[in-house]
Amino acid sequence: MVGFELTKWVITSAWPYSSDVPHLGNLIGSVLSADVFARFHRLIGDSVVFVSGSDEHGTPLEVEALKRKMLVKDLADQNHARISQLFRRWDISYDNYTRTESPVHKKFIQEHYTEINNNDSYIFTQIERIHYCPHDKRFLPDRFVEGICPYCSYERARGDQCENCGRPLNAEQLVKAYCVICRGPTELRETKQWFFDLPRLSDYISDYLGRAELSQNVIRFSRGWIKDGLRPRSVTRDSEWGIRAPFPGAEKKTIYVWMEAVLGYVSATIEYFEKKGAKEEWKEYWFKQDTKTAFFIGKDNIPFHSIILPALLRASGKVYVEPSTISSTEFLLFEGQKFSKSNKIGIWIDEALEILPTDCWRYALIALRPESGDINFGWDSLVEKVNTDLNDTIGNFVNRTLVGVSKFAENSFNLKYSDISDEFKKDVQEIRNRHLAIRELYETIELQSACREIFNQVASANRFLSATEPWKAVKNDKPRALAILYVALSTLKVACSELYPIIPETVKEIISQSGLFKTNGGVPQWDDVLIDNELPIKTRDTRPVFSKTSASVLKKKLEDLRASKAESKAINANN
Ligand SMILES: [Zn+2]
Ligand SMILES: [Zn+2]
Repeated sequence: MVGFELTKWVITSAWPYSSDVPHLGNLIGSVLSADVFARFHRLIGDSVVFVSGSDEHGTPLEVEALKRKMLVKDLADQNHARISQLFRRWDISYDNYTRTESPVHKKFIQEHYTEINNNDSYIFTQIERIHYCPHDKRFLPDRFVEGICPYCSYERARGDQCENCGRPLNAEQLVKAYCVICRGPTELRETKQWFFDLPRLSDYISDYLGRAELSQNVIRFSRGWIKDGLRPRSVTRDSEWGIRAPFPGAEKKTIYVWMEAVLGYVSATIEYFEKKGAKEEWKEYWFKQDTKTAFFIGKDNIPFHSIILPALLRASGKVYVEPSTISSTEFLLFEGQKFSKSNKIGIWIDEALEILPTDCWRYALIALRPESGDINFGWDSLVEKVNTDLNDTIGNFVNRTLVGVSKFAENSFNLKYSDISDEFKKDVQEIRNRHLAIRELYETIELQSACREIFNQVASANRFLSATEPWKAVKNDKPRALAILYVALSTLKVACSELYPIIPETVKEIISQSGLFKTNGGVPQWDDVLIDNELPIKTRDTRPVFSKTSASVLKKKLEDLRASKAESKAINANN
């Protein structure tokens, strides 16, 4: 406990688009990393609110609903339910996983933009030319309009980006633009839009970047944006789907999704405490300056969190807590290629759980987290993590130690620290030092390194058992065999805390087999490292916690799964 203070944390992961099931790259980049970080902070006793939600007001969902002849709201409900359920199955420990359709979020957005509008006129209007469909009698934002790419002549470039050459587009640039609803030609019409005067907050943002303890890549990225000159950001869209703009005269407009979802971190905290019946408590997290906030996001989202979010918060006139940690990873590649939905490259988070237990994925993804460069995730690296790390090392060590307790200690281990020799006390000290080093890696979000050090901790305990051979010692020197076991149990106990953020279900199983963390009802506590608190130790129903697999088995399972899905789709289409 000494030297560490309890901290309030708001921990968040990027809001997934509700139009797609995330793939493993999305998961490791934000959701899973945030979960591990949140679990770690709860484990050391910090006060954590971990929130996120489905980002639902983008045009892709609207276009998809049109294609399926569904109400957008119905599709949004369906997708939100599906994604929420998947995150539960991945053991993501959100305190509140909400959605941008939540009434609390909508109310917050309208109030917040009213505050910005009333405060020193950070909102102004300007006339823009936007594609309009005379047949459908509506404006066509971003993805509602397609046409020929002015750069590469690709014929189905979207209003916001060309999928073929990857260039971002302004819809006005499209050649022979057409409406995606009726395929008819469009015309450019003038419409009034409301803008957020971001340039006026340039100095504030520069100061913030100077005082915030953000990582170098975030600072570099953000300073680059400022150097190029901040531009006003449009806040409104001529669209039905979304949150009504609260500005006088903007009754038929909605708030642009990019300027709305990013404020969901605050509204999700408000909603969390409302559900708990502590309506005002969210202010402790967003206005008390000793709170820390951590955002786990994709690389391309950095400026939205380091520039636009703090600017939108500041423009309200209220002094919100500024983002203190912005964490993004490099890219996870699948078998050497970028994840791609259209080319079916990668594994999606719903499929993954059908072919391997959740904790195997969680461990492998953290062990291969792309922290200092892109990392290739493939069948071989996955299988190596499962077989070598989890089964042969961690699983084997747990089992050897627990079998030792039941065999050499007649299943009632009762030795104290004061009973063991200095030689073994030194080993126990070494284990505690490693425990502290792993804590630091977690705190600095070096999750891949933390995972490797935990593995090293357990691997070295496994070698210790092989070298000291307690199964031989027990025959002629039982006190020595028990002292060896004391050292092994010390590793087992700290490893439970260290592994809990990464593989929570397996750790629960190990604790159930070993009866550890008695004083805390079987829940790991980072600072409780002493075996003496656990005596007598008795095992229950010991059995292996992992099993081996092979790449060919996993590939076959995935192929079968995809084939059966394709078949059921075909059957539905025929009916
Ligand atoms: Zn193009
Ligand atoms: Zn049309």
